Amino acid sequence: LAGLAGISAKNALQGRSIALLTRHGKGELVAPALAALGLSLQVTDAFDTDQLGTFSGEVERTLGPLDCARRKARLACELTGLDLGLGSEGSFGGGPAPGLVNWDEELLVLWDRNSGQEIVARASGPVSVAALAWGSPEELQTRMAVFDSGQAWILRHSDGVSKGLRGVADVLRALAGNPQHPGVSAGAGKLTIEPDLRAMHCPERQAYIRQAAEQLAQRLQSLCPCCEAANFWPDALEPGLPCAGCAQPTPLPLATIRRCPVCGHEHREPDPRTVADPQYCAWCNP
Ligand SMILES: [Zn+2]
Ligand SMILES: [Zn+2]
Repeated sequence: LAGLAGISAKNALQGRSIALLTRHGKGELVAPALAALGLSLQVTDAFDTDQLGTFSGEVERTLGPLDCARRKARLACELTGLDLGLGSEGSFGGGPAPGLVNWDEELLVLWDRNSGQEIVARASGPVSVAALAWGSPEELQTRMAVFDSGQAWILRHSDGVSKGLRGVADVLRALAGNPQHPGVSAGAGKLTIEPDLRAMHCPERQAYIRQAAEQLAQRLQSLCPCCEAANFWPDALEPGLPCAGCAQPTPLPLATIRRCPVCGHEHREPDPRTVADPQYCAWCNP
């Protein structure tokens, strides 16, 4: 029965281990939410995930975020021999106001090698970290003080990047001339200071990764009423909530749909709202 149901919180998960491949400290972000379900995490760093692409651009990303997270989940299983693998991937850009608000989406893919079933959990939201403009060490200090002290920075210069710089002193040291790049001085034209977006260096990302882990735990506990498979989750929306002004359908949801990934059972939940604000109506607010 366990095989038939795939990932099912009821019959297959208590006491099991999930493999996570990371060199970026993601284990401690994800483990608490899973521990609450009796799941433990086995972290491996036996593969350099930077080979799949880096935020700082030395390795180009060829896979989209979802496929990259899937790949990491499968690698985690291969490297540990465990049947459950977890892949984590974040991506910046997108969101409701691209170009105006920087946006982070964090994905977690839990993959069950036995059944082939996967559960994708997501969390996303705005991030404030951005490249720093500076003219003097004092100005740099002022600009950096706005951000969480756990945020690290990268210095991009003509010869490459210096990563994981924590605090003003670290950045100034790198600017003044680190061993590899002597003579680099503050304000030099080709230098930029950007946030280091790797998970262990970016507290804003860490918050979204924790949220995604909480959602994963909730998905694992949302069971299909017919077959008890996990991930019975309102992933699909049925658009068409009528406009309060003209009664035409809007893009807002009329209902959310839960569909069991194993047996296909569907449950439709009408949206608690009965009408949409005319600001969402293509006729009233074109
Ligand atoms: Zn309308
Ligand atoms: Zn089902």
